[in-house]
Amino acid sequence: MTAETSRTTGTAETGEAKIALVTGGSRGIGRAVVNRLASDGYDIAFCYRSDESAARLVAKEVTTRGRRVFARKVDVAESEQVKAFVTSVEDELGPVTAAVTSAGITRDKPLVLMPDEDWDAVIRTNLDGTYHVCRSVIFPMIKRRGGALVTLSSVAGVAGNAAQTNYAASKAGIIGFTRSLAKEGGRYNIRANTVAPGFIDTDMTAVLPEKVTREMLGRIPLGRFGTADDVAALVSFLVSDQASYVTGQVFQVDGGIAL
Ligand code: NAP
Repeated sequence: MTAETSRTTGTAETGEAKIALVTGGSRGIGRAVVNRLASDGYDIAFCYRSDESAARLVAKEVTTRGRRVFARKVDVAESEQVKAFVTSVEDELGPVTAAVTSAGITRDKPLVLMPDEDWDAVIRTNLDGTYHVCRSVIFPMIKRRGGALVTLSSVAGVAGNAAQTNYAASKAGIIGFTRSLAKEGGRYNIRANTVAPGFIDTDMTAVLPEKVTREMLGRIPLGRFGTADDVAALVSFLVSDQASYVTGQVFQVDGGIAL
């Protein structure tokens, strides 16, 4: 679905449409956010890295909700690809009202075994990717005097996690990045918040050994893993006007695992 747009008719012809850009929208948390925001009345632009058939499915889910959708294969680690994506989104759908940076990867290993390429891949996708997206949407938002940004961190970025030095560093960086952006953006009515999920049941966590997941479950006061919809519900609130006085915060959606 490279460079493909799917449309429905009759919505958002005017500049007043709510348009959400979601990275990593083809699977997991990003997909749930796409669907939740489409249900909230947003037209949706999303990107993904490789899984074209998953992206097609999500695009269809958006159009069946009566919203316009623009999906494109984009590597968020690549600045020029992200810039081109944001320009195309604005051309195809209009100005981005809300951006949610969900694209992310793990390459877990103890530091003593960490190859440079695993360190680089995680930092480039998670931290640089977040920077590239926010950098690309910030100027148009400043010009329009408004916007909402939600970045995806992790409990690992708040508390650290063994065998995740690369991932935790990227996710802690996202927190500092987002808080700084909240301070810069406030005067332009741009809000920036971070969501830090705990253990959410997606492809990312499906690869973990059973021993690890059992041990995790035992540490969660609510006694279950989170769902992507649990995270999407918070994102939906944060980008909405109901959160108009909320900025620079880190919200853990973790069933209490970090208590
Ligand atoms: P997921 O199920 O593995 O999905 C990852 C998504 O990101 C996919 O759509 C993937 O696209 C996309 N993606 C990966 N690398 C990309 C790149 N370089 N450029 C563009 N898109 C890229 O992950 P998830 O569990 O939904 O996680 C979403 C976010 O939440 C991540 O930032 C993650 O770190 C964070 N998080 C997750 C958990 C959890 O327990 N699941 C906990 C804390 C934080 P393709 O499929 O096309 O590759």
